[in-house]
Amino acid sequence: MYRRACELMPGGVSSPVRAMRSIGRDPIFIASGSGAELTDCDGNTYIDWVCSWGPLIGGHAHPKIGAALIAAAERGTSFGAPTVAEVELAAAICDRVDSVEMVRLVNSGTEAAMSAIRLARAATGRDRIIKFAGAYHGHADDLLVAAGSGLATQGIPASPGVGAAHAATTTVVAWNDLAALSAAFDADRSSPVAALIAEPIPANMGLVPAAPGFLEALRELCDRHRAILIFDEVISGFRVARGGAQELLGVRADLTVLGKVIGGGLPAAAYGGVRELMEQVAPLGSVYQAGTLSGNPLATAAGLATLELLDDRAYRQIAETTELLAAALREAAAAAGGRDRVSVVSLPGLVTPFFAAAPPHDFEAAKRADHAAYGAFCRALLERGVYPPASGYEAWFVSLAHNPDLIERTAAACREAFAIGFAESPARAAT
Ligand SMILES: *Cc1c(COP(=O)(O)O)cnc(C)c1O
Repeated sequence: MYRRACELMPGGVSSPVRAMRSIGRDPIFIASGSGAELTDCDGNTYIDWVCSWGPLIGGHAHPKIGAALIAAAERGTSFGAPTVAEVELAAAICDRVDSVEMVRLVNSGTEAAMSAIRLARAATGRDRIIKFAGAYHGHADDLLVAAGSGLATQGIPASPGVGAAHAATTTVVAWNDLAALSAAFDADRSSPVAALIAEPIPANMGLVPAAPGFLEALRELCDRHRAILIFDEVISGFRVARGGAQELLGVRADLTVLGKVIGGGLPAAAYGGVRELMEQVAPLGSVYQAGTLSGNPLATAAGLATLELLDDRAYRQIAETTELLAAALREAAAAAGGRDRVSVVSLPGLVTPFFAAAPPHDFEAAKRADHAAYGAFCRALLERGVYPPASGYEAWFVSLAHNPDLIERTAAACREAFAIGFAESPARAAT
């Protein structure tokens, strides 16, 4: 099947990281998923720590989401006209994310981030944007500059085909480098900054949290320069807390980009923010942005059903499961003789085991982690029925379907897999 896929589709996949090239093996074709487990086309099962790269916070084939989808499908799949469910989803978003007063539903995180940038440029009458190295905001031209994740994995610094004019309006700054950020705002006075876009909890260079005070400094710099602060909460939204990173970390954005969890495994995303900005979006204002399938009835049904699962108890459970997984990874690395070779970083719902002596503070440090060892570790886990993200620049995604038994089984596989990973590059052992 993979050979056939490769003849028909570039790399045999619909999105690059799925090809598993960076860990040096062929991809696995999935037949089905249930709870926190996947079954491949050969009948092998895996404990899934990818969960579709974030959307499936309720696990695979959750019965409540399935029932909501079937009910919605029986009423019709798309109308190209307003529905009650999309208003309910908009209300649920505005209720949870404090800084969001109005929201526009779209189909992907890429589309949401691109549209938020357009709105910020229109609202400020400025062109230049600032983004952080290693932050991924989807593959829109202006944002495909020093992006992490799939690009880091593929070793593509910035894709060919991104026009020079696009790249020129994007200033890239190292994450957690306040002096560089300040300088970027002050540089090029002929082109003041329209927007600063950041993942408040960066998870596309592996999980690299903000240093204390850094997010507050972003807010302060944007206020001082009258630039718009955009938080890309496509991963952190509805995952790290009910109100996302803004609630967990206490810093408000002007515009927020949402995706992944909000669609419950179907294509849905959104951008939203303060009323005075969102009122500039067509048809109320002149900033054009549209979508044939935006607010799709199936996607809104899955999104609403997913948000309904996420009460306070669910967030406590996600946080507890995350800590159990992080502790299990640390213990497994130590048991394999690599206490000093692995740094496990976690925030509620997200974990990255870096093959590095200390947690990275920016993309350059994340790149210095031992990615060859991570690849060997991943291959060994897959052989032992555990499905990790096939890249050291990603987070492991915790769902409500993961339980202590699955973590114990993951830990047992990790003890062997870490030893295999360490053996892959023994030279590092001495350092
Ligand atoms: C996944 C992701 C996106 C892009 O979302 P798509 O739905 O894949 O287009 C944007 N920003 C962040 C932070 C992401 O993790």
